[in-house]
Amino acid sequence: AGLTKKQILKMAEEQKVKFVRLQFTDILGIVKNVAITVDQLEDALDGKIMFDGSSIEGFVRIQESDMYLKPDYDTYTLFPWSPQGEAVARLICDVYDAEGRPFAGCPRGILRRALAEAEALGYELKVGPEPEFFLFETDEEGYPLVKVHDHAGYFDLAPADRGEEARREIVLALEAMGFKIETSHHEVAPSQHEIDFKYTNALTTADNIVTFRFVTKIIAQRFGLCATFMPKPVYGQNGSGMHLHQSLFRGETNLFYDPENELGLSELALHYIGGILAHAKALAAVTNPCVNSYKRLVPGYEAPVYLSWSAKNRSALIRIPAARGLGTRIELRNPDPTANPYLALAVILKAGLDGIKNKIDPGPQRFNNIFEMTAAERQAAGIESLPGSLREALDYLERDPLLRETLGEHVYTNYLRAKELEWDEYRTQVHDWEIKRYLQVY
Ligand code: GLU
Ligand code: MG
Ligand code: MG
Repeated sequence: AGLTKKQILKMAEEQKVKFVRLQFTDILGIVKNVAITVDQLEDALDGKIMFDGSSIEGFVRIQESDMYLKPDYDTYTLFPWSPQGEAVARLICDVYDAEGRPFAGCPRGILRRALAEAEALGYELKVGPEPEFFLFETDEEGYPLVKVHDHAGYFDLAPADRGEEARREIVLALEAMGFKIETSHHEVAPSQHEIDFKYTNALTTADNIVTFRFVTKIIAQRFGLCATFMPKPVYGQNGSGMHLHQSLFRGETNLFYDPENELGLSELALHYIGGILAHAKALAAVTNPCVNSYKRLVPGYEAPVYLSWSAKNRSALIRIPAARGLGTRIELRNPDPTANPYLALAVILKAGLDGIKNKIDPGPQRFNNIFEMTAAERQAAGIESLPGSLREALDYLERDPLLRETLGEHVYTNYLRAKELEWDEYRTQVHDWEIKRYLQVY
């Protein structure tokens, strides 16, 4: 951390870097980049590289399309698979407009703003993600087939786990890029995997999630496989989530821990939970952003459906893992790996801070399996559900001023527009299921 321009230029020379990729994401969290040759690196580090923002999802109109990329020096790293002697480095950038102001459509800037607000209150958000994904077979041309690559299950090993080698290579590549990987394993569904990284500050974690997604795809491709983060690729099987473990720190102190409290949780942690639960339905529009996301959030597949929290129960939306002391944290279980991690962490943090400011009571813990309760029992207990579809989630987003303010007018408007189009396209399709169900019968 704390790299200077001089150090980067020196490293690039020593590492025989030939190309540098300047990376950023669009509002949907899709990674974009422009490659420069190393001769331009100094200009790039000075933020002088310009690009046309008009073709980037949710950026700008043609007439105001000049944008600047300002690299975050600390994100400098090599792509470990690039050829020796002609190495490829990357820098993650913040996007600025032609007038030199932070661009309102840059998701990284939105997370930075939310983190600055937390910092002003004396809080630093730490996040550890648990992204899950599937590996699918590909055809001769390398395009994905809807065909799983193995039939192994939770924690299985080779030979049943046929993704072991690819997973190992993914972990090694990530480590070479500076990740601290805690665990990796085969997940419950056939061909499903998980790689967990160690918690760190929220901005780095968001950067890491973006990097993780494309590194995983690149390495899988080398094994003739297609890695997908689509939340529910196979009907009847577990989907892929991206649980987000979170805690607030002040310096070296974990503010979520309170040894005096019977659960070991501070009042601050409880209010943070209360804030997330209060905004959970609107948050889903960002943490579960695809039509397909809502096919994962159904009973029976270890994915949450109901708005509840618990220190034990894995069916809850928020679970409190057993670790206390420095490791005290909450695990938010609904996000999935298609979320734009910058926007997702920004809105989650702001919801949590809202809980802290307004001392929002998270309500009682739920010990029993909510999935076994009847609808009437849930209603009597006041247990609500996550939205059942993207459309429903967007409706909640439209009614949540805090989230609108967090995203800012530019992203809020463009995001909503993009997602409404996505929903309408889906809504008017004729799906295979409908053909099978109706064509002959009627
Ligand atoms: N795959 C499950 C989900 O959809 C989570 C399984 C787990 O607890 O790791 O969230
Ligand atoms: Mg898992
Ligand atoms: Mg988990």
